[in-house]
Amino acid sequence: MAERQEERRGSAQAPSGVGLTTEEAAERRARDGANVLPRARRPSAVRRILGELTHFFAVLLWGAAVLSLVAGLPELSIAIVGVIVLNAIFAAAQQARADRAADRLKDLLPARVSVRRDGRRQVVEAADVVVGDALLLESGDRVPADAETLATNRLLVDSSMLTGESVAGGVVEGETLFAGTFVVEGEATAVVTATGARTRLAGIARLTTTSAKPDTPLTRGLRGVVRLTAGIAIGLGLLFLVVSLIVGNPIQAAFVFAIGVTVALVPEGLLPTVTLSLAWGSERMAKRNILVRHLEAVETLGSTTFICTDKTGTLTQNLMNVVEAWTPAGSVVLDGPGYGPEAALSWSGPDAPGPVRSLALAAERCSTGYAELVDGRWRAHGDPMEAALDAFARRMGVDTDADRRDEEHELRFPFDPRLRRMAVVRSDEIVVKGAPDTVLPLCGDDPAAHAALDALTARGLRVIAVASAARGARTPRTLEECEPGLRLLGLAALEDPPRDDVVEALAACRDAGVRVAMITGDHPTTARAIADEVGLRSPDSPVLTGDELPADDQHLAAVLDHDGAVVARVSPEDKLRIARALRSRGHVVAMTGDGVNDAPALHEADIGVAMGRSGTDVAREAADLVLLDDAFSSIVAGIEHGRATYVNIRRFLTYHLTDNVAELTPFVVWALSGGQFPLALGVLQIIALDLGTDTLSAVALGAEPPAKHLLKGPPVGGRLMNATVLRRAFGVLGPLEAALSLLAFVVSMAALGWRPGGPFPTGDELLAASGAAYITVVIAQAANAFACRSATKWPGALGWFGNRLLVGAVLIGTAFSLVLLWVPPIADVLGQANPPLAGWAVAIAAFPTLLAVDALDKRLRSRRGAPPHANAVHSAR
Ligand code: ATP
Repeated sequence: MAERQEERRGSAQAPSGVGLTTEEAAERRARDGANVLPRARRPSAVRRILGELTHFFAVLLWGAAVLSLVAGLPELSIAIVGVIVLNAIFAAAQQARADRAADRLKDLLPARVSVRRDGRRQVVEAADVVVGDALLLESGDRVPADAETLATNRLLVDSSMLTGESVAGGVVEGETLFAGTFVVEGEATAVVTATGARTRLAGIARLTTTSAKPDTPLTRGLRGVVRLTAGIAIGLGLLFLVVSLIVGNPIQAAFVFAIGVTVALVPEGLLPTVTLSLAWGSERMAKRNILVRHLEAVETLGSTTFICTDKTGTLTQNLMNVVEAWTPAGSVVLDGPGYGPEAALSWSGPDAPGPVRSLALAAERCSTGYAELVDGRWRAHGDPMEAALDAFARRMGVDTDADRRDEEHELRFPFDPRLRRMAVVRSDEIVVKGAPDTVLPLCGDDPAAHAALDALTARGLRVIAVASAARGARTPRTLEECEPGLRLLGLAALEDPPRDDVVEALAACRDAGVRVAMITGDHPTTARAIADEVGLRSPDSPVLTGDELPADDQHLAAVLDHDGAVVARVSPEDKLRIARALRSRGHVVAMTGDGVNDAPALHEADIGVAMGRSGTDVAREAADLVLLDDAFSSIVAGIEHGRATYVNIRRFLTYHLTDNVAELTPFVVWALSGGQFPLALGVLQIIALDLGTDTLSAVALGAEPPAKHLLKGPPVGGRLMNATVLRRAFGVLGPLEAALSLLAFVVSMAALGWRPGGPFPTGDELLAASGAAYITVVIAQAANAFACRSATKWPGALGWFGNRLLVGAVLIGTAFSLVLLWVPPIADVLGQANPPLAGWAVAIAAFPTLLAVDALDKRLRSRRGAPPHANAVHSAR
């Protein structure tokens, strides 16, 4: 009796009879509703707008508005406040749009959970869990509802989500498990007591988790851009104040100039446009089965220089099949498809069938995964490897269903990723199954077994060793206590074919300058064989095991910093060290992981990648990206989209800055002329340009679809405002636009009677000339929007309508500007009027001129050695 008690305590099996029927569950689901948390309330529109009104740039502009008022310029002050408010509304709308995109992404990954219904284990969606359901929880699971434990087996639960306490605590029978916590070790059966809005989690007001991720390259890059532009804006504003006072302007005019310069240079729309661009990137990724958990990850992926990928399920299909089994008495080769019970058997050794059958039975008993007939097809339930072992046993004639009914009496020690083995204790025997290199030494290291292992792993097969011992009177309390007296039953060798698209995806990484290392828990020979098969390894790339990794991190990074390195038999700690070491060498590291213990490595990497199908909830929670199809090629697709987003940000940055040059130049000319040359563009016109012309087109540039060949060049990371952005904006496009605008101004003045050397016009003539300067910038910016779509190709080559959003944005922006130019009261306030014909001629000619000069510049640059394939990657550099 005492022994049975002991057994019960160590087992997480539910007492029979626990759990609902499918009908009961459906009734309760209809009565109580779905087990989902009420969506965390997003801030209201008003609150969002208030937030934007107090944003960094907004504060700068408030300052300008107050100064204008103090200087006795109420119209200017009102205009600036108008800019702040419009910008805030626009930014809040973009943020709301980005949030909605994030919500949609969440719905893509329904959480699944094992429950006992109709007397058997079933996998259901967490949303369908109802009160009374018997949850079957194991390591890595997220607890889907509040529940009371009926049976536990070394259960450790991480409740940091609720308590902030990051140390996992033990939970025994009769205690409550709360929704949102994670099982980090052991197993439990628990009956649900509250779901959805009635859980403790729902009752906690603050649902958001704070994650202390290091800054992403984008965050750092943007911060740099913001600081730089704000610094320049304020610095130049002050400079112009001083200059205009020196040239003898009244203080009021000096203020107008100073504020104009500051307003011209503050890139108000930049941050919301970046957010929206990232949100669009994440939506595009979702279509490629990549779920982004942090928006910035979109961009970090684009800068990725090193991928540490696991093998099983990512490079391979995770469709396991036992193709050979070895025992000391002989072996069998199996030829059968999928997880079905039929296979052609070829025996070697007359005495093999009995021992092989014992091996298969023991392997099946030591597994929780099994093969299941669903809709006429045999499928894996749980771990595919364990399901394959179940299929193996069926192929050996074992009635595993009947054998499984006995499972309640087991004591299980779940798979330990450090010891790489697991065990079950049955009434009469103890069975251990695990990696051969950890099991064979426990059974006396049979040389024949080692020879068989070498032959099987060399073929890329995954090999599992199974051993058993008579139980006698023992009740082991640890995995180690299961080990005395073990006798090797044999080896099961499993095939797991590589994914079809892996070879291509690896070649794409190579083209893209991204290094790939295989970091696997499998045997080194198996890992090497698979790496060779998929073309990951080159002849000189290293193959190491976790034990062989250099102790010094720098040395470790140097050893691994090769394309095609293979590290086998790694522990979760090794993964963490590898991520850290490669990062310290300047790499932007993407690391895959699926187990509970992988969470620290996923956190440490720049991009933690978890699997949507096979990974644990814990790994998914720690990751930045979840691959819905588990495929390596999806990481590569993600890198492509990340690059596209980064490039798009550079595109609209170039566009923004070009406009700034055109807006600033009239002030410079005025200052250089010692205040003699009239100001071509006034502050209010600049504000109108920033709002009316720039914003929509910038957003549309952020939605530019990814260019082809984006992966045919080095990573696009680095400074957002790199040399090409600066050269194009400040060296070519900006000065050209400024020159065209001033030309229109001068030509219009001349058309209205001004002659060089004569007095400059005032009154209506000046307004018309200023209107010419304004509309020239508008039209040149329209051309610039198209020019910024690529830094190497002219827009005609890309297709004028390739980005329809941009065409619409340009048309709306131009129409809006014409209203500002032609509708008298508005035009009067802005200080402009319809230009003379000559002014219009220059303005209209600005469109082809800008495109022609840009095309010439692109051609010259490509001649000077920009590699032709780098087209897309360089397109916004
Ligand atoms: P990867 O996914 O990186 O390719 P892996 O799945 O092979 O790695 P682990 O899950 O850490 O890595 O497994 C390491 C080794 O432990 C496996 O190669 C196998 O020999 C053994 N092993 C894995 N799962 C089980 C299990 N359920 N029961 C017994 N042994 C196992």
